[in-house]
Amino acid sequence: MMSKNILVVGAGFSGAVIARELAESGHNVEVIDSRNHIAGNCYSEREHVSQVMIHTYGPHIFHTDNEKVWAYINKYGNMMPYTNRVKATVNNKVFSLPINLHTINQFFEKTCNPDEAKKLIESKGEKSISAPVTFEEQALRFVGKELYEAFFKSYTIKQWGMHPKELPASILKRLPVRFNYDDNYFNHKYQGMPENGYTAIVESILDHKNVKVSLNTSFDLKTRENYDHVFYSGPLDAFYEHEFGRLGYRTLDFEEFTYEGDYQGCAVMNYCEPDIPYTRITEHKYFAPWEKHEKSICYKEYSRSCGENDIPYYPIRQVGEMDMLSKYISLAEKESKITFIGRLGTYRYLDMDVTIAEALNTAECYLKSLKSEDKMPVFTVDVR
Ligand code: UDP
Repeated sequence: MMSKNILVVGAGFSGAVIARELAESGHNVEVIDSRNHIAGNCYSEREHVSQVMIHTYGPHIFHTDNEKVWAYINKYGNMMPYTNRVKATVNNKVFSLPINLHTINQFFEKTCNPDEAKKLIESKGEKSISAPVTFEEQALRFVGKELYEAFFKSYTIKQWGMHPKELPASILKRLPVRFNYDDNYFNHKYQGMPENGYTAIVESILDHKNVKVSLNTSFDLKTRENYDHVFYSGPLDAFYEHEFGRLGYRTLDFEEFTYEGDYQGCAVMNYCEPDIPYTRITEHKYFAPWEKHEKSICYKEYSRSCGENDIPYYPIRQVGEMDMLSKYISLAEKESKITFIGRLGTYRYLDMDVTIAEALNTAECYLKSLKSEDKMPVFTVDVR
């Protein structure tokens, strides 16, 4: 097989995994990234003085049920045992998240056992909602008004800049509700934190003789013809110079502060009340419980609408945006020799494990297309 010349735009997980897979099959891969570092928003680095590993673009916890993805990430770095246990401060009290038996008992000042708690929460649920569509309906139906208003309503308005009535139920479905004392934030079989940070993992994925990485390099449409195929993980709307308008994103601002000792005693403390402007505080050293640090580095996290020069984080995918998205997809579907990948290329809220799974699948799909001479799809997932 003749080796192909491939361009990968973006050195986050999507781009790095595709680059590696194709390089291993003997193709020449150039990876470019407009930033001065690899790993995209998963980027982590040690703060020089304290040596605490900082999640520069906010907390990233690796969790998955996918055996293949778990094996993949472990191949490129040592994953240390880590369980995310989030706390929330509401009405001058600290509660356990996701909502579990402890949260329910503390909140309602009860001593329910699991069956009693289930009955209690069922009695609080809004029965008239049979098929919840919005975030608010989902919350009212499954946890009831009191828990919704305490933990979700204001936090969500701060996080998404809009009322939970305008947001899809899928956002809330990310969080479990448990009727036992399990306060693990995730339900997945595997969870862990890279011993040397995410940047080291992405670096080792990209470390192959057939992969050339260029940082501080923006994609120039004119260079497209120099390659047999382009994998593009930048924003889909930016590729078309925002011809139909800008797809909405939320961006984050982090206010860093240091503390001598332990600031909050856990990695993530959510602030669910409306009068506190930030959504959460991250104390980074708690992401590495196997390390010892006297000093602490914390980030207060503020969410706001993403402007032209801001870093996009969360795709909003509101109804109006879905129409615009549909126009971009139709335009993209006419392309050949390009595949749009990842969170920004497909405008979807993706966890890291899904990103890796999709990238592995995309690479496999490309390699198959070379053998069969079928056209490589512009999207390898359902993006609508
Ligand atoms: N959420 C909330 N209160 C909380 C935590 C989460 O209202 O204390 C809502 C919020 O809308 C958030 C969604 O649940 O966007 C999903 O939470 P997750 O922790 O998965 O958000 P992420 O870590 O991806 O920002």
